Amino acid sequence: MDLEIITIGTELLLGFTIDTNAAHLARALASVGARVVRRTTVADRAEDIEEAVRSALSRTGFVITTGGLGPTRDDVTKRVVAEIFRRPLRLDRAYLAELEERFAKLGRKPMPEANRSQAEIPEGAVVLPNRWGTAPGLWLEGEPGTAVLLPGVPREMQGLLEHELLPRLKEKLSPFQTGLTVIRSRTLRTTGIPEAALADRIGDLEPELAPVTLAYLPGIEGVDLRLTAWNLPPEEAESVLQRAADLLRPRLGIHFYGEEGEDLAGVVLSLLKGRSCKLAVAESCTGGLLGERITAIPGSSAVFLGGVVAYSDEAKIRDLDVPRQLLVAHGAVSEPVALAMARGAARRFGAGASLAITGIAGPGGGTPEKPVGTVWLAACLDGAERTAKLSLTGERDDIRRRSAQAALNLLRKMLLGQS
Ligand code: ATP
Ligand code: MG
Repeated sequence: MDLEIITIGTELLLGFTIDTNAAHLARALASVGARVVRRTTVADRAEDIEEAVRSALSRTGFVITTGGLGPTRDDVTKRVVAEIFRRPLRLDRAYLAELEERFAKLGRKPMPEANRSQAEIPEGAVVLPNRWGTAPGLWLEGEPGTAVLLPGVPREMQGLLEHELLPRLKEKLSPFQTGLTVIRSRTLRTTGIPEAALADRIGDLEPELAPVTLAYLPGIEGVDLRLTAWNLPPEEAESVLQRAADLLRPRLGIHFYGEEGEDLAGVVLSLLKGRSCKLAVAESCTGGLLGERITAIPGSSAVFLGGVVAYSDEAKIRDLDVPRQLLVAHGAVSEPVALAMARGAARRFGAGASLAITGIAGPGGGTPEKPVGTVWLAACLDGAERTAKLSLTGERDDIRRRSAQAALNLLRKMLLGQS
């Protein structure tokens, strides 16, 4: 089935908000066999919305919109679409009562008058209940085709997509199940190897992966390999993706660390948890980024004890027991100092594992011997120690993020018993 997406919001056109809704929708819809053939973005203007919805309906007969369902004056989507379908707006008393109850529960009584308009439903529309916000989604079917109206707030849109829209679409598409084809993807995540080196390793496999296609998606934290199965029945898509992933994984070796959205910090934490080992960190140029990555993982408290952000030499001496003479002799960005930081963190926190990062993130501070992008990492694990020197390129932020990722990877490799 072909359909179109319209994202509504002046801020999207101005570029202040990135249109994540369209991307989310497209991915999810492809996986159930609904093909997005066009995406349009319009401002919060009734004429523009009307024109976009009418022309999308004339092409595919099925349109999904996001945004403009809120209670404010600039939210006009519902009114415009109701007019296209020639459906008057009627107050849905049950929904109004529910809304009032929700406001009362939050201690916000009386409910603002503006929210009443959210209980006005185009006649004959199916209300898609919104547990994440106040504007319900709407499903309208009629002579012009089908229009599904979703709220703009990404969390609300995603909640409705997963719990209301996809189940309904699957049901709608089930009569065609025998001929139904889907586009599905799977991602293998790698780190510590540049895109070109990765291509050298696996390039010759590409013909064998067919009909699955392979895309290299380089990012700050590594290269993701996205496998995609196109226009196949769902089960066949899954099985060819499985086969392709099984072919690729062994070739990726130690560089492969997870699938889909899996984070390297999570991988390291579960390896540490498996051996009941606690972790502490010492950070200079990353200023807490490593701690942020680790604590972003739910359940990290079972493993992570804490960290020290030791930016100045004095802080490294005072809080991590780095010997002053090491700093004088080698400078803060050096192997001995990185190692002393890691040892200090392990000792101070009583941790079996520790990581340290010290480097020059730039744009200033580089020297011919130690240019911007020079970063020393150190890791301790149950008495074993390892260091690594990075020569990174990019902006300050890239260098800091790459350093945090490389530090996690250093410890992961130790945990897996690889150098
Ligand atoms: P509300 O009830 O909050 O008014 P709404 O359905 O009217 O919801 P909008 O007012 O259009 O939605 O947008 C609400 C918020 O969601 C805004 O902060 C906006 O930046 C964000 N948003 C809207 N559309 C998108 C989109 N396509 N991608 C990402 N964020 C979006
Ligand atoms: Mg709004």
